[in-house]
Amino acid sequence: MSVAKIPEMFEFTCDACMIKDVKRSNIRPKYWVRLILERDDHDYQGAPCEDGTVTLLLCRDCHSKAADMLNTLKATPHAD
Ligand SMILES: [Zn+2]
Repeated sequence: MSVAKIPEMFEFTCDACMIKDVKRSNIRPKYWVRLILERDDHDYQGAPCEDGTVTLLLCRDCHSKAADMLNTLKATPHAD
């Protein structure tokens, strides 16, 4: 009878495109980002009723797309 040590692995999944990256450490893969959108959820009268924060783990490609969209948003003045 033998014993094999199986190293612990961590599987990261992009919340946008669902691509996976498997690593031996739980440190986020290189160039991946955690995007946090802090917001409140509101009741039918418009009052904030609970935390509606959204957190996304994004791969390198989705990170690039999100950064481009944010830069476009920053460069576009609001209509009102
Ligand atoms: Zn992705």
